[in-house]
Amino acid sequence: MTTPPVNLKISTLSDPSVAAHLSENRGPAESELTHPPVFELKGVTVSYNDNPAISDVSFSVKVGEVTALIGPSGCGKSTLLRSFNRMNDLISTASVTGSLQYHGADLYASKVDPVEVRRRIGMVFQKPNPFPKSIYDNIAFGPQLEKRRGNYSEVVERALTRAALWDEVKDKLKESAFTLSGGQQQRLCIARCLATNPDVILMDEPCSALDPIATSRIEDLMSELKSEVTIVIVTHNMQQASRISDKTAFITTDVSEGGSRVGRLVEFDITSKIFTNPTDSRTEGYVTGRFG
Ligand code: ADP
Repeated sequence: MTTPPVNLKISTLSDPSVAAHLSENRGPAESELTHPPVFELKGVTVSYNDNPAISDVSFSVKVGEVTALIGPSGCGKSTLLRSFNRMNDLISTASVTGSLQYHGADLYASKVDPVEVRRRIGMVFQKPNPFPKSIYDNIAFGPQLEKRRGNYSEVVERALTRAALWDEVKDKLKESAFTLSGGQQQRLCIARCLATNPDVILMDEPCSALDPIATSRIEDLMSELKSEVTIVIVTHNMQQASRISDKTAFITTDVSEGGSRVGRLVEFDITSKIFTNPTDSRTEGYVTGRFG
């Protein structure tokens, strides 16, 4: 079953590629049947020094989908994203409560090894962060660390090919990764993730430091990868969220009478619904640029 073409009533979505993506977007009924959950969050709260930064979040991330986290700065998007691969464990003041299941298992169970979690659930950051090593060694590093046997040259070629970078770098694999452009460095970081065969990649504003052409290449890459790797992306760019994601979570900051601020999930739905017919007026205000 597919949803009928959506009636785009929001002026910010004038980009034809956005309209095409949204009108192709599958309806929830099909998605629920064909895409099992990778992550299921129930009442997830992440705090720093016991003060909640984002509270009581519940939604599911489905296999093979791109899920976008959007919302105003400081509402807790990155904090929530880091809870998906236990990166918050590295912040001594951070704590996570509620239930966060990964393929049906408690991600925060004491027997779960966070290093293995981060191998399966890779992360790409806002600013490309290649290692001060050659292009080849950046990619071979993870598999070598795992002492994975086999031919590292094949692993390097495959990862760079999957990240749509091979043709640009195949003749200079021994050169420093820092000789690459910003967009190439970001694709190198994606290739570095792919080399350890993750089933999820978390992306924290991966294009915010890139020009429009490099951004477009990363967006194309995400669309190509999503059949093999589930993607969760934090983005400030509404056009990007609407172009590339299947589901969108809109988060905002609630300010209590006492002045304390906490991030709350306002609405989670298929992206076409969030951008064209949101249920909550706060979502509509944000996606149309009236606030945030
Ligand atoms: P967003 O990604 O939506 O901009 P963040 O997740 O970065 O929001 O931040 C959410 C809230 O948590 C903010 O108030 C921020 O100041 C706070 N915060 C983020 N990281 C830390 C940290 N390491 N220690 C304490 N507070 C933090």
